[in-house]
Amino acid sequence: MRLLLIFLALVGGSAWGRAAETNPVEVKALKITVLSTMLAEKGLGEWGFAALVEVDGRRILFDTGAHTDVVLKNAAALQIDLSTVPDVILSHSHWDHVGGLMTLRDSVRKQNPAALGTVHGAEGLFYRRVGGGPPILENPLLLTRPAFEDSGGVFKIHPRPIELHPGVWFSGPVPRPHPERNWSGSGRLVDSTGAVVEDIQPEDAALYINTAKGLVVITGCGHAGVVNLIEHARTVVRPAPVHALIGGIHLFNASEQTLTWTADKPREFRVEHFIGAHCTGLETVYRFRRELGLDRTRVVVGATGAVFELGQGIDPGVLAK
Ligand SMILES: [Zn+2]
Ligand SMILES: [Zn+2]
Repeated sequence: MRLLLIFLALVGGSAWGRAAETNPVEVKALKITVLSTMLAEKGLGEWGFAALVEVDGRRILFDTGAHTDVVLKNAAALQIDLSTVPDVILSHSHWDHVGGLMTLRDSVRKQNPAALGTVHGAEGLFYRRVGGGPPILENPLLLTRPAFEDSGGVFKIHPRPIELHPGVWFSGPVPRPHPERNWSGSGRLVDSTGAVVEDIQPEDAALYINTAKGLVVITGCGHAGVVNLIEHARTVVRPAPVHALIGGIHLFNASEQTLTWTADKPREFRVEHFIGAHCTGLETVYRFRRELGLDRTRVVVGATGAVFELGQGIDPGVLAK
């Protein structure tokens, strides 16, 4: 009986330890630098997204931009060394987030074979798309995958949230209780059962980082819906205010009704900073600023080189300030 109790305590303890929701680690240092988006203050602008996340001494590249070489050039313009970045997050499979992967990997792997060598994505990242063109072109990652793996790179596909580093979660696929449909087009995909279904970008994923001031949410296109994303972050990590929201939330072409509904929501989550980059839309940024009751120092259009730093807030650069 006593042995059984000890066994149960051990099993229970490991389960509680893994969940971490009750007492998640708070990161101490966090700096996020935008490396690809449309507005370019330093380097080149493009329809795409990428950002470097530096957290408690660890460095993570979040998305890789659209063109093969824009993030590479922008990192050089910003004097950012990517050869000490082991991990890449791909928020989803769209061309404007995965285009730079191979060029970036090739640029650093001679110097450091592990650099940009581990890619994290959510279940669905490699699903074949069967939209208007040949299936493989509908998912550019299917073209990139062999070369990346030949280079020694590894893809890690996550079916559920995972704490990559203390206080840093990769979301995995994001549940969608709210009917946000923030994507363009009407493509279809072949899912894991072989069924052809609507392409809702099921792999759309984000990073959630826990700080003493609240959560920091980093998103690529936000196809899962920004409200769904934030609610998921608050479920996975803890139900804290959102200290910062950074990235694209794909509302540039939203209807007035959608924009009004969406802009009203972040007040509930007490979003304190917002860098609206990529497909967010300029009007969306200004609407969020107004609805959140925040000023231009806390809600800005994202530009290349823009920085959010824990304790410092946002440095948007000269054009977006
Ligand atoms: Zn997308
Ligand atoms: Zn995008």
